[in-house]
Amino acid sequence: MAHRVEQGIGRFSKIHVCTPIDNRLNLYIIVHTVIQAKPAMSILNRPYFRDEEAAFAFLEGILWKDGTECPHCGVVGTAYKIAANPAKRVRYGLWKCKDCRKQFTCKVGTVFEHARIPLHKALQAAYLLCSSKKGISANQLSRALEITLKAAWFLAHRIREAMRELDFATQLGGEGKIVEADETYVGGKERNKHRSKRNNKHIGGVGKEMLFSLVERGGKVRSMHLPSVSADNLRPIMKAQIDAEKTRLMTDGEGQYRLVGSMFKSHQVVNHGIGEYVRGDVYTNTIEGYFSILKRGIAGVYHHVSGQHLKRYMAEFDFRYNNRSALGVEDFDRTLAALAGIKGKRLTYKAIDLG
Ligand SMILES: [Zn+2]
Repeated sequence: MAHRVEQGIGRFSKIHVCTPIDNRLNLYIIVHTVIQAKPAMSILNRPYFRDEEAAFAFLEGILWKDGTECPHCGVVGTAYKIAANPAKRVRYGLWKCKDCRKQFTCKVGTVFEHARIPLHKALQAAYLLCSSKKGISANQLSRALEITLKAAWFLAHRIREAMRELDFATQLGGEGKIVEADETYVGGKERNKHRSKRNNKHIGGVGKEMLFSLVERGGKVRSMHLPSVSADNLRPIMKAQIDAEKTRLMTDGEGQYRLVGSMFKSHQVVNHGIGEYVRGDVYTNTIEGYFSILKRGIAGVYHHVSGQHLKRYMAEFDFRYNNRSALGVEDFDRTLAALAGIKGKRLTYKAIDLG
């Protein structure tokens, strides 16, 4: 009887088809050998990216570090698992609390609650969004996951919401630290919009949305969507977000920054107006580099971002920057960090479609 022996060599396998000549001595003769490329394995081939039961187990591991958490009564570790049974419409990932007798899954109380897309596809979407430097369009997500465009668009917003930091627990800057501050404009070209939607009020960023960002050099970024960047607007924000007394602030020469500069340990300015960009360690290249990633992403991938959704796109770019390779966070850990952020947040069509 023919016998197959597989031998791996790099990206290929040699398959020897053999015939036994002596069973006692375990001797075979090779009849012929086939060399073929090994099937390519991808990260998206991992069980939790393709199997619903495994997807729930994976997410439970991220969200329930100390055991199951009943969202109804808050008791930890006493729930028991109810086996999924699609024929009887018993959902995947279902648990029953021994205390309050109510059922739940780990999606309750998160941005994935009420999402009808299979969880393993939602996890794939999270990985794709976390691993693409400039983001991934709803169109591309829809094709990759084989879901409708509308479902892909909404799923991406759920994940962006998970990436959003709700309260900034720590301040940027500190002893020996430098924070760069700047503003930029993003959004569609005014001449492409319908006359009634054009906005001619703001000079400089006509019809565009204004972003204000703070970047700690070698550290994290925080971006905000502001109606304007007057000194009165900026002062309370910078006071809350930066450990000002210990931090060196670096900006361009615009007036509002000169007005808020006095609350910092020092305030140094690069004067772009006279062609100056770097003077020793005085520069704003870090924040300009960040804006260029953000603007290429928003213009190239997302094309147009309305003011209403901008905070979630900013959260997405801030999140990837704050969990970047240079800080030791690779694609997979970045995905885990995003998924840990789904907790305690909700997103409904009503909340994001209107307004
Ligand atoms: Zn309970």
